[in-house]
Amino acid sequence: MSHNNALFARARHHIPGGVNSPVRAFGSVGGTPRFFARGEGAHVWDVDGRRYIDYVGSWGPLILGHAHPAVLEAVMRAARDGLSFGAPTAAEVDLADLLCERVPSMQQVRLVSSGTEATMSAIRLARGFTGRDKLVKFEGCYHGHADSLLVKAGSGLLTFGNPSSAGVPAAVAADTIVLPYNDVAALEAVFSEQGDRIAALIVEPIAGNMNLIQPSPAFVTAMRALTEAHGAVLIYDEVMTGFRVGPQCAQGLHGIKPDLTCLGKVVGGGMPLAAFGGRADIMARLAPLGPVYQAGTLSGNPVAVAAGLATLQEIDRPGFFEALGQRTTELVEGLSKEAANQGLAFSAQAVGGMFGIYFSATVPQGFADVMASDRDNFNLFFHAMLEQGVYLAPSAFEAGFVSACHGTEELEMTFVAAKRAFDQIR
Ligand code: PLP
Repeated sequence: MSHNNALFARARHHIPGGVNSPVRAFGSVGGTPRFFARGEGAHVWDVDGRRYIDYVGSWGPLILGHAHPAVLEAVMRAARDGLSFGAPTAAEVDLADLLCERVPSMQQVRLVSSGTEATMSAIRLARGFTGRDKLVKFEGCYHGHADSLLVKAGSGLLTFGNPSSAGVPAAVAADTIVLPYNDVAALEAVFSEQGDRIAALIVEPIAGNMNLIQPSPAFVTAMRALTEAHGAVLIYDEVMTGFRVGPQCAQGLHGIKPDLTCLGKVVGGGMPLAAFGGRADIMARLAPLGPVYQAGTLSGNPVAVAAGLATLQEIDRPGFFEALGQRTTELVEGLSKEAANQGLAFSAQAVGGMFGIYFSATVPQGFADVMASDRDNFNLFFHAMLEQGVYLAPSAFEAGFVSACHGTEELEMTFVAAKRAFDQIR
């Protein structure tokens, strides 16, 4: 028995489903998840000693690749000085300064330990600031697992309050309005009907949790205009896109200033760190200044802050995002070429260091399009790539990630594997 199989069997005794986060279990693609032993640059090694080119990068944080020397050095230096104080440190002030310099809309910021905490806290803050309860989110967007955000849409123009996870109280779900992504008419309708009761609109400004979906320019403009006109707080959830799609995040690409922004993944450089911040008048409602409570024993943890600072310093180098964007574009173009050679219905796109591949003839515009793509073909492709040492996200609904360490050699190996994989599923 392989070490992966043995570990998965053992893991299931004491860990529900054998994993600490559901998608790791390979539930939608089938098979045994790989247990990783180590990572370096663009590669990971599993417990059987097999090497993979990694296009997951811990689901986004590892923009510099695994075990980047500057990040490791910063982490070890910080750890030697103490793992946690539960008191302010100079490094967290440095990180706050840097984030407010880099993110166009961020005047103040608070550090937390996960993206879920960031979005949950931003929503509580928006509700405390506006004195309203309703929240607008979009079908297919994931914002972590706080109760009010685990609500998804059915079909139809507006879906009110259908919890998509057991355990979410109906009363909480009832305050979440779910709309289709990229549907300006639906957005206008909901704001004209109940704009004065909406505390916040939260959006993945480039969606990465229903594979990669780009917003139309009209959708981006409408979200800003409608929230502003109705006094609702616009929250850009940039946990995935922050410092991944560009040096000023998605808001820099869109030329939009949201009221609040959530960050995670890249800002922690692979350590548990996230942040939320934005307009100073809104942030001033947070305790200890204001009545909205939010806290964390490990918030601003010095080791995590050190990893985040080192990562942000590295990506600040001139030309970093140009090179990353070019490499990611080369990847999707190469994959598209191989699929076209086999006559497969396939499309792909890249934004910065993030990409989407779809078994559909055209690039999807929303959740329904992604659902209509050929998921059986995705699963076959996933396993054929895995067998050849290419690790893709184990789900057709996840974006992929390229790091600064993915070079020509990794791309060429990926194309060779893809040619065989496409040939097998044709
Ligand atoms: N928001 C977005 C856009 C995400 O992609 C994620 C996680 O994938 C989260 C929030 C939740 O972050 P975390 O898993 O750190 O709680």
